[in-house]
Amino acid sequence: ITILAIESSCDETSASVVRDGVVLNNVVATQKVHEEYGGVVPELASRAHQQNIIPVVEQALKEAKVEKKELSAIAFTRGPGLLGALLVGTAYAKSMALALNIPLIEVNHMQAHILAHYIDDPKPPFPFLCLTVSGGHTQLVVVKSHLEMEVVGKTLDDAVGEAFDKSAKLLGLPYPGGPLIDRYAQEGDPHRFEFPLSEMEGYNYSFSGIKTAILYFLQKEKRKDADFVAHNLKDICASIQYTFIKMLMQKLKRASRELKIRHIAIAGGVSANKGLRETLAAEAEKQKWTVYFPDFQYCTDNAGMIAIAAHYKYLAKDFCEQTVAPDPRLAI
Ligand code: ATP
Ligand code: MG
Ligand code: FE
Repeated sequence: ITILAIESSCDETSASVVRDGVVLNNVVATQKVHEEYGGVVPELASRAHQQNIIPVVEQALKEAKVEKKELSAIAFTRGPGLLGALLVGTAYAKSMALALNIPLIEVNHMQAHILAHYIDDPKPPFPFLCLTVSGGHTQLVVVKSHLEMEVVGKTLDDAVGEAFDKSAKLLGLPYPGGPLIDRYAQEGDPHRFEFPLSEMEGYNYSFSGIKTAILYFLQKEKRKDADFVAHNLKDICASIQYTFIKMLMQKLKRASRELKIRHIAIAGGVSANKGLRETLAAEAEKQKWTVYFPDFQYCTDNAGMIAIAAHYKYLAKDFCEQTVAPDPRLAI
């Protein structure tokens, strides 16, 4: 089974080839145009996907030494994501499947973030609990099988990745600021400044209150010292990151205890965060958890995760029709 997978949900155009469950490569073109706007501009994203998709797919096939006629199926991200961006990948995948007369496989982007754990070893056994933390989502998911997942908790407002990026913006850092906060935080004191934690019901999260708290805090401190941010950047980043991680860990610990699941994974762009990884590793000792981290290249958006998800859908003969449409709000 050889599948070509395409990801185009946000600002990464990516293609990957998977053969018999082995992901052969993962070509990612990250769009630079959004940097100067401080966030992803949907119209520019879809134009950049149009420019990138052919070279990215050609490179993936060439690198994998796979001819188009050898392909068993074409997979694409159906959602969630930006409609205009999803349309580019969807249309491309459809026409290629039609031309080659092979099956088409639609993939849910959030399921794929989780299934990235099946690209390399160690692979988590079912059921496991996955904290999916990305630019648009923050979810606690009970993963029962490759294709059966249940969201038991989620953010009721901002995603944690979005909270990282918006906080970074308040600090004058360029987009996406999450990785920069992570980097400065490593040399800062996480206990220097304190921010209030929001407590939501059940396993749910909220990250919008803390963003406002950070805004007011910075405004107040800047009135005393105009260069407050420049003078304290590392400590501010460390303190913000500490607060986000603490919020993420509280619900994760509770869900693990109550649902009695000790295999814990993290997925999505924020799972690249070093502070989160260290905290989870330390907690694993205390809670007797086995924890799973995806390889860095499979944390943020990539087609490798779409390819591995498609492999399991192919095994289940879960194909879709040519009439399929992208769904910006596709749920797990
Ligand atoms: P979704 O998957 O919810 O549709 P998305 O695809 O835009 O959203 P991803 O590509 O999975 O999100 O992740 C991007 C997010 O991850 C950005 O918010 C970015 O700041 C954040 N991120 C990436 N690396 C780090 C890091 N080291 N620390 C904190 N945040 C990070
Ligand atoms: Mg991105
Ligand atoms: Fe994503």
